[in-house]
Amino acid sequence: MKKLLSKQRSDTPHWVGDGFPVRSIFSYNDVGPEISPFLLMDYAGPAKFPATTERRGVGEHPHRGFETVTIVYSGEVEHRDSAGGGGIIHDGDVQWMTAASGLVHEEFHGPNFAKKGGVFEMVQLWVNLPKKDKMSKPRYQGISSEKIPVVELDKGAGSVRIIAGEYAGKKGPALTFTPINLWDIRLKVGSQSKFKVPAGHTACVFVLSGKVSLSDGGEISDAEIGIFEKGGDELELSVSEDAKILFLGGEPIPEPIVGYGPFVMNSPAEINQAIEDFKNGQMGQLK
Ligand code: MN
Repeated sequence: MKKLLSKQRSDTPHWVGDGFPVRSIFSYNDVGPEISPFLLMDYAGPAKFPATTERRGVGEHPHRGFETVTIVYSGEVEHRDSAGGGGIIHDGDVQWMTAASGLVHEEFHGPNFAKKGGVFEMVQLWVNLPKKDKMSKPRYQGISSEKIPVVELDKGAGSVRIIAGEYAGKKGPALTFTPINLWDIRLKVGSQSKFKVPAGHTACVFVLSGKVSLSDGGEISDAEIGIFEKGGDELELSVSEDAKILFLGGEPIPEPIVGYGPFVMNSPAEINQAIEDFKNGQMGQLK
């Protein structure tokens, strides 16, 4: 059984642009090796937005050296990038954007959601790339809900949607550079489930809502992430309140992390290069 190493949460939201009231759940600045290959996670909402004709979100900005993964739980996100990627994703959809060598993009509430208003809830995850892939070509994967396989758990305990990686023999649609398991899990109150996860991989349980308890007596509650030790290959979750969970697992990338704002590389020289390249327009521009 994997043991809980630590928990992270934030109760102080900040705004990203004017569309995303986020709580930063973890960052490589605080917990680098423990969460590798993941770098950072922002949890936006759940927050109610009134109807508007304005565009709410965050305008053109660059990224280099990693991937941004956006999971929409409620609402609509519209994205456009200088590498030609773009689209609108809705409840249950996922956008997997590989910034790699660099691009600029914008992220806004989708037009239909903005017009109607409603509850907005989203997770954005930054996933690191190994050194050898940091300068590869950008890529955009818009993954619609119906492409994500669902596994029903025994005894009506809940369900697992496999965004990336594999669970119970079913494979998720997202292409990744290193082995990653990203599962959208729903668990019913009173249930108890065991999850097989690869030994040696990072394993984190983010509870969006509800509450789960662990075999050693620990608890993870809403807007909190539990970071587990890399040893062991099993997680046991007992559910005390209906729970919406994002499981993050993956093979750690044992390389130095040097980040500055929207750039995450391996050395200060590469960061300076990224700043230079962005200034010189080498990350492209939105048309
Ligand atoms: Mn961005």
